Amino acid sequence: MERVFNFSAGPSMLPLPVLEQVQADLVNYKGAGCSVLEMSHRSRPYEEIIENAEATLRRIMNIPDDYAVLFLQGGASLQFSMVPMNLARRGATMDYALTGQFATKAWQEGKRWGNAVAVCSSKEDKYAYIPKITKEMLSPDAAYLHITGNNTIFGTMYNELPPVGDTPLVCDLSSIILGREFDVRDFALIYAGAQKNMGPAGLTVVIMKKSLLTDDLDEVVPSMLSYKKMADAGSMYNTPPCFAIYVAGLVFQWVEQTGGVAAMEKRNREKAALLYDALDASDLFKGAAAKEDRSIMNATFTLPDDEQTKAFLALCESRGMINLKGHRSVGGCRASIYNAMPREGVERLVETIRDFEQGKRV
Ligand SMILES: *Cc1c(COP(=O)(O)O)cnc(C)c1O
Repeated sequence: MERVFNFSAGPSMLPLPVLEQVQADLVNYKGAGCSVLEMSHRSRPYEEIIENAEATLRRIMNIPDDYAVLFLQGGASLQFSMVPMNLARRGATMDYALTGQFATKAWQEGKRWGNAVAVCSSKEDKYAYIPKITKEMLSPDAAYLHITGNNTIFGTMYNELPPVGDTPLVCDLSSIILGREFDVRDFALIYAGAQKNMGPAGLTVVIMKKSLLTDDLDEVVPSMLSYKKMADAGSMYNTPPCFAIYVAGLVFQWVEQTGGVAAMEKRNREKAALLYDALDASDLFKGAAAKEDRSIMNATFTLPDDEQTKAFLALCESRGMINLKGHRSVGGCRASIYNAMPREGVERLVETIRDFEQGKRV
């Protein structure tokens, strides 16, 4: 099979130049005599890889010096636990906005640690929109407000951040980091699993205010789950996910070389507009998320019934477009159009939407 347009929500497409670079360097990394897969994480060549990865990420996201960058494991899901364990006392109050499945999982993990308050939820409407948060809705003593910047499963995103005042804002940016510009200073802590928009699975990036790093944690918190210990060790308290960090570093370089995050955002907004315009123009296809909260990374849409959904997915597959099936919990279709999805992929999808509507089948 030729390479296809892979609309998977994650792990997802990687930029072809990155894959080719990995291939070229795989067996003997730049004359080091071995592969990055085999290299000691304490070796000079590897030190350079991880230092460059961090430096490039700092440049493309404009990460200020008073923020730490951590390369961790355990996926975004482990952050659901690490965040409360490091930012809140046991039993303390923490606020959560429930805008989807991952947001709800984060809240549930928070509840294991303390008084995790759901300040709002769009569950009644199948998470089709982002509830507006006002300052009055927040708990006065909350250790933080946790939001999910982009809801991968339901296809919504925050266009504006909630007005949090002095409450630290914690944000899961797994499916939109590097896809859109953010001002890191708006956040106390950002986390993101790499496999959506940054690189291979196995790496989670945390960007947090250094002032929040502390050794004064509850004694049950394992060393591996202490941000401070990880920061002190330069993300090498133990063996880091070496290869994933290396590939992510190449993706960061690719973002930089193709114009940076602002240019990515421009292309992503254009791709998303192409797709949403086609959906809005259709009598058969329907966008699932509220228009004003539509994600530019994950577009969710439906057809009138399961049979037509299946037929549409089959037509897509016959044209080299895969993984367009919606998440098992919501059904329908979902097109994940992250940074590495070329405009041509979206154009082919739009053409297929129009052809399907005109009766074209496999
Ligand atoms: C994919 C995803 C997660 C879960 O990521 P894992 O790395 O599988 O733990 C959490 N939050 C969001 C927004 C996601 O898209």
